[in-house]
Amino acid sequence: DSLREASRNQATGLKGVKHVILCASCKGGVGKSTTAVNLAYSMHKRGFKTGILDVDIYGPSLPTMVKPERPFDPRRDIVGNEIMPVNGFGVKLMSMGFINPVDSFVMRGSRVTPLVQQLVSTTAWGELDYLIIDMPPGTGDIQLTLSQMETLRIDAAVIVTTPQRLSFVDVVKGIEMFDKVGIPSVAVVENMAFFQNDGMQDNIQAFANKYSLPQEAVSELEEILKAKQFLFGQGHKQRLLDMWGIQNSISIPLFPDLAKQSDSGMPYVLAFPDTDVSRAYSALAESV
Ligand code: ADP
Repeated sequence: DSLREASRNQATGLKGVKHVILCASCKGGVGKSTTAVNLAYSMHKRGFKTGILDVDIYGPSLPTMVKPERPFDPRRDIVGNEIMPVNGFGVKLMSMGFINPVDSFVMRGSRVTPLVQQLVSTTAWGELDYLIIDMPPGTGDIQLTLSQMETLRIDAAVIVTTPQRLSFVDVVKGIEMFDKVGIPSVAVVENMAFFQNDGMQDNIQAFANKYSLPQEAVSELEEILKAKQFLFGQGHKQRLLDMWGIQNSISIPLFPDLAKQSDSGMPYVLAFPDTDVSRAYSALAESV
């Protein structure tokens, strides 16, 4: 085991990192970054030293989703060849968006891969139990390069998808790519899986009062209105799990509070620890 440990994560900054988990999706906008952030903070809440590396160079969302204690300061945070991660609510963070908030959005493809490699090798993480890497969407050059970097030993991938039928083929492509380079996909997150309108209590009560409805009718009405609506059908999660023998999965609803929280700079699982959604992320953290 110690031999294996010794051969892992040899890039200087990764020396103290025990496990590396990729958070990947095959399309943009499915909630990959939301998953990466809430997974990382759920791990942190379980007592693990955790970091998030956002290598989604074209659309780095970490700086929006987590507001660091203090902004990245190149004069202070670039030391020799190393980049120091910033700290946000106890989790170490690095993203091109911290280093260069403007330039990162316009860049030729040929410049992106070396930049990602550099970001991976030169960030000085210190001691970490888990480093979560928020990947760019897709199954292209960057994904392959990262998966095969000699100095980076990746333990597992978490695949984020939405239930629309179209994305099924892409998800399979992603799992196959990781499989070829020996990275097991250990969990599937079905994001925006359903919608549940559970913020109607006050309206229902007012309605019931107006028409003098009995309490029984109020409860029944609440149940009807709170039923899960599978806007995109029941999805393909089970098929994916069966095909690949993936043991773990969670479903996250289409949930306005989650989006609102992502824009606020404080991760949802920290702001609302006792909701079904936070419990689902916690189950994901336990399973990977
Ligand atoms: P990706 O990393 O795949 O591009 P993001 O995590 O950035 O996706 O999510 C895209 C947008 O959708 C963001 O505005 C985010 O807040 C929102 N979002 C993600 N998941 C959900 C959800 N379950 N319910 C509502 N909004 C969501």
